[in-house]
Amino acid sequence: MKTSEPTSEHLQKLAEARRVLLYKCPYYATAVYAFRPVVEIYEPGEQIQYPCAVDASWNLFINEEFFEAPPSTRAALLEHEIGHLLRRHPERLRMREPQKWNIAGDLEMHNTGGLEFFNDLPAGVCYPKLFGLPEGKTAEYYYEHLDLDGGGGGKNPDNDNHGHCFRESDKNDPDGDDSSGQKTERVSAGVTIAAAEEVRNGKDIGSFPSWLQIAIEEYLKPVHIPQWKRYLQNTLFARSPERSFHRPARRSFGGFILPGNKAPIAQAAIVLDTSGSVLMGGILDEVFSHTKALLDVCAKPVVIYACDAEVHSKTSVKKLSDLEGKVIGGGGTDMGAGIRRAVKDGAKTVVVLTDGYTPWPEHSPGARVVILRIDPNSPPPPRWAVDVPYDGPTS
Ligand SMILES: [Zn+2]
Repeated sequence: MKTSEPTSEHLQKLAEARRVLLYKCPYYATAVYAFRPVVEIYEPGEQIQYPCAVDASWNLFINEEFFEAPPSTRAALLEHEIGHLLRRHPERLRMREPQKWNIAGDLEMHNTGGLEFFNDLPAGVCYPKLFGLPEGKTAEYYYEHLDLDGGGGGKNPDNDNHGHCFRESDKNDPDGDDSSGQKTERVSAGVTIAAAEEVRNGKDIGSFPSWLQIAIEEYLKPVHIPQWKRYLQNTLFARSPERSFHRPARRSFGGFILPGNKAPIAQAAIVLDTSGSVLMGGILDEVFSHTKALLDVCAKPVVIYACDAEVHSKTSVKKLSDLEGKVIGGGGTDMGAGIRRAVKDGAKTVVVLTDGYTPWPEHSPGARVVILRIDPNSPPPPRWAVDVPYDGPTS
C-alpha cells in the first residue's frame, strides 16, 4: 500500500460527504475542514481493513472503499472519525494495546444517540451488544471487559475488520505549527461553540451526541463576575472616554494625528489591611485573591502599602509574589494611616482591602477612596468613601 495526494475526483467525493454531514450536523464544520486527506492506494490482493482512518494530527486516510461508498456512508465515516478525535481516544490510549483500544473507542461511540449517522456506517461495525456488553459505558470500561481471544463475555464474533479506524500518529500536524493536542483543542472549541449556538436558538440539547452535550452545558454555564470586580474594571481603571490632542493616539493613519485618551489610567495605590484581625483571622487568602484580581485589573505595577495601625512597607507590585516578605503587621488597625500616606505620595485613587473593622478619617483625604470590605457585616465606612460591596469570590 502506498499513499498519494488526493486527485480532484477524490476531493469532490470528500466534499460531497462533508456536505451531507454538515446539512444534518452543521456544528461539525470546524472538524471536517480540519482533516488533511491522505489517499491510500492498495496493491491488488492487499486487504483493505477499513474505508478510512484518522490519526491524532487530523490526517484522514481514505481509500477506494471510501470513495465507492454512497454519500451518506461517507458522511457517517467522517462523523465516526471526528468522534474518535473529539472524544480524545488517541490521548486516552496511554499504555493500552492500540487495536483493542480502538474497538473499545468504537463501542463508546456506538450507543443510542452516540452518532447522528450511525445507521449509515458500513455493514459489520461493532457495537456493545455484539460483544454481550452493556450500552453507555466508557472506552476504558469496554477495554477492561472486552475478550478478543474468546471465552466469557465480551467475545468478539469477527475480529478481522475491527480496530483499524484510528491510528497512532507518527508526525505532528504538517499544516501548522501547533501540536496535535492543540489542534484537537481548537477544533473541539469550534464544534462546541457552534453546537451551543444551536441550543441557544432552540435546538434540543438531547439531540446532540452525549459527549457534546456535556461540553455544551459547560460552555453555556453562566460565569459569575462579582459586582465589585466589575465595578473596578469598568470605572476605576478605565480610560476617560473624552478624547484629546494633548495625548495623541499611538496609532495614526496616513500622517494624520488622531486624538488620544485624555486621562491616563488613574494613579492608584492599594492599602492592604495587615492588622492582627486580618493576619490571624483566616481571611488572608481572600485578601490575597482580591489583591491578585486588582493587579489583573490594573495590568501594570501598583504601589501597595501594608498597614495595620501604621504603614510597615511600601512595595511596587506587578505580581502577587512581589509581596513576599512585605505583608508585615499584626497590630491594631487604622486604615486612615495608610490612606494618608498614599495620598501624600501622590495617589489619586486609593483602594483599601480590609475586613472593615477599622476607624476611618473623619473627612475626605483629598483622593478617591474605594473600600472593599471583605466582611460585609463590618460597620459601613464614611460617606466620602466608595463602599464596594463584596458579593462573591473572584472566580
Ligand atoms: Zn472507529
